[in-house]
Formats: sequence, C-alpha cells, structure tokens
Amino acid sequence: MTKSSLTAISTKPAPEDTHSCWSCGSMRAAHFCESCGKVQPPAPVDYFTFFGLPPKLNVDVPALEKDFYEFSRKLHPDLNARSGSQEQEWSLEQSSLLNDAYRTLRDPIKRTEYLLHLEGVALEEQSKSATEQARASGEIKKQIVPPDLLEEVFELNMQLEELRMGQKMGDDDPDLTADINKHKNALESKHESLLQELQALWKEWDQLVDCQLGNQGLAASQAQRTEVRDKMVDVLNRRNYIRNLVRDVNAALEE
Ligand SMILES: [Zn+2]
Repeated sequence: MTKSSLTAISTKPAPEDTHSCWSCGSMRAAHFCESCGKVQPPAPVDYFTFFGLPPKLNVDVPALEKDFYEFSRKLHPDLNARSGSQEQEWSLEQSSLLNDAYRTLRDPIKRTEYLLHLEGVALEEQSKSATEQARASGEIKKQIVPPDLLEEVFELNMQLEELRMGQKMGDDDPDLTADINKHKNALESKHESLLQELQALWKEWDQLVDCQLGNQGLAASQAQRTEVRDKMVDVLNRRNYIRNLVRDVNAALEE
C-alpha cells in the first residue's frame, strides 16, 4: 500500500500491484501500461486501492478529480475501439469501476459508508425506498430514536399529529406550523453539526491508519479502530434518522 500524502495522490501503483503488461511486457501501472498505453485486465481491488490511496477518510478531492480525468482519458473505450475486443472489454470494465470509485470517494458520506462497508459494517437500511416500501406494506419501520433526540422527536410527533387532525378538519393553524418549522430548523442544524462530528472522527481514523502503515502500535490499534468505527456508525445512523424525520415533516407540511 502506498503512503500517499494529501497533496499528491500517487497515480503509480505500489510495487506489489505491478505486473508486466500483457502486450509489451514492460512494467505497467495498475490500470493501463505506462509504456504502450494498453488497458490492462481489471484487478479485484477496493475503490481506495483503485486510486492508489490508503484507506483513509480525508481525501484531497481536487487531486482525486484530476486523477479521475486522467484515468478516464487513458481507459476510455473509444480510445481502444480499434484494438482487440478483449482490450475493449477491459476498457469498459475499468471505466465503469473508475466511475463507481470516483462517485463514491468524492462524496464525504458515501466515502465513509464505503469504508465502513470494507470494515464489515452493514449500515441500517433507512433509504427512501426502504421507507416507502415499509409504508406501502403497512408495516411499521423499526427505528431506534437516538437518545439525544428523544425529547425533540416526541414533541414533534405530537405537533405533527395535531397538524394532521387540523388538516382533516380544514383548520389552518399558523402558530402550529411556525412551531413545527422551528423544530425542523433545529433538526437541520443538528444534521449539519453531525457532519463536523464525523469529520473529527475521520481525523482519528486516519491517524490510526497512519500508525498501522508505519507499524507503530499495531496491537493497540485494532481496539481503537473498532471504537472509532462504531462512533462513525452511530453518527451516520443519527444523521439518517434526522434526514428521514425532516422528510416526514416536509411531507406533512405540504399536505
Ligand atoms: Zn505495454
């Protein structure tokens, strides 16, 4: 694994990822040959490794973007249109892997979720489609209210109930709507602050990865990694919970 600094993402693979080019036999980069430019067979690697990055959460996004465009050009299927169909196929596979890797790593939340997935964590399915599915089937989706939101959620649910009753009766209560909006705004700022909380955890995580890469405190770091990992899961779950709640509030207000 290469130890890329934040300022310079290495487009060159670590030596162990380097094999000889299938076409010209010289040493090649992971995805295309540096000598002849031929696209190489895709290797089953994770998105970080694809970009020659260590599994760290602070990513230099402009540098990532630059690498993305460079890889895009070199792996583009059109560029390889006249070469053999095998290379054309690799080119398509590599390009699709490149797009997925870039879309995932450039987004702070997707990047964190992906890293947690690599660490074996299955995050709660709280996506919009899951919520809609649960609604359609009439089943109540089990969501654990984050303890720090219990009071807020309880009050908000009472108000939403009141709002729905008023709507049925054709009553309009501007005070109630204003109050609900106030709660909604509070939730939205909480949502924002959770991103900062997450970023603080990135820093802790990256330090542990650096320790491990440097072989310092290897034994101690596994327990620490688990601790930071679980904290990140907690932040993401709270964030998802708030996002869903705000969506419900917006739906109720629009009725
Ligand atoms: Zn070559």
